[in-house]
Amino acid sequence: AAGGNRYEHADADCDARAIARHSLTTCLPAALDHGEFFIEYQPLVRLADGTVRGAEALVRWLHPVHGVLGPDQFIPLAESTGLIVPLGRWVLEESARQARSWRAAEGGEPAPLRVNVNLSPSQLRHPGLVADTVAILGNAGLDPSALCLEVTENALIGADEDELRHLRQLADLGVDIALDDFGTGYSNLSYLRRLPVSTLKLDRSFTRGMQRAPADPVDVKIVEGIVSLAHTLDLSVTVEGVETGAQADHLRLLGCDTAQGWYYARPGPPERLHTLSLADAS
Ligand code: C2E
Ligand code: CA
Ligand code: CA
Ligand code: CA
Repeated sequence: AAGGNRYEHADADCDARAIARHSLTTCLPAALDHGEFFIEYQPLVRLADGTVRGAEALVRWLHPVHGVLGPDQFIPLAESTGLIVPLGRWVLEESARQARSWRAAEGGEPAPLRVNVNLSPSQLRHPGLVADTVAILGNAGLDPSALCLEVTENALIGADEDELRHLRQLADLGVDIALDDFGTGYSNLSYLRRLPVSTLKLDRSFTRGMQRAPADPVDVKIVEGIVSLAHTLDLSVTVEGVETGAQADHLRLLGCDTAQGWYYARPGPPERLHTLSLADAS
């Protein structure tokens, strides 16, 4: 492509990475058929009283050779190969079933637990998204209000009218939409008003400065500003990456609504959420 009689070698490291990527990519489709994916759930906690409100579904791949792979190792591959559409549909099916069973848990009173599911840019573009979601909720017997779909700020900035329409239709059905990794993109305030979003999920990078006391004063100001903006627009604020009690206290005092992080629980098996929420009730 550079023209002339010229050739170049890619460096060995780069080759190794390309090979690893290629081998993962080739076994991705079969992995879905073979049932190698599983989901861990990380609790979402209401800061005001510490009760468990639900959980975020986080997908993992139990690879027969490499062991458990995190989403950062395969979601980008699934996204670039298109497998993310069937994989994402599976995650939604599984999470909806799970949320239904939390809510129907023994003891009569269904605990009003909800589930958050990540939606990738390709899923958002996919014309079947709304119909698939309706069918999945119907099959699981799950009320749309028990589902929150998380879309990253960057995916939304790039969204066209069709994609925004998908989100509006889902929001009209009663599904909550959360703007994930908020603060890492460049959405402006007037743009936020046009989106059918009910929650801002503040990126971990903003809450890191509050891990120990005294907190980083600039981070505190930023969180304060975002909370006040969000509440003015009737949006709730969820904070990610809460790792210490001091951080949780501070974020609660700043008016954040919901928190998620290792301080409460690492992502874990679905049964554990029920145990955690029952512990609340007692
Ligand atoms: P995310 O949506 O921002 O998810 C939060 C990530 O932060 C998770 O990483 C979670 O394990 C991690 N985390 C939670 N609490 C803490 C904490 O206190 N401290 C620290 N340092 N980290 C914490 P994970 O599970 O590796 O997921 C990474 C990303 O992969 C997610 O980021 C999400 O964008 C994507 N992802 C996960 N599951 C799915 C899925 O089913 N579909 C799609 N499209 N993307 C997914
Ligand atoms: Ca998320
Ligand atoms: Ca996030
Ligand atoms: Ca993130």
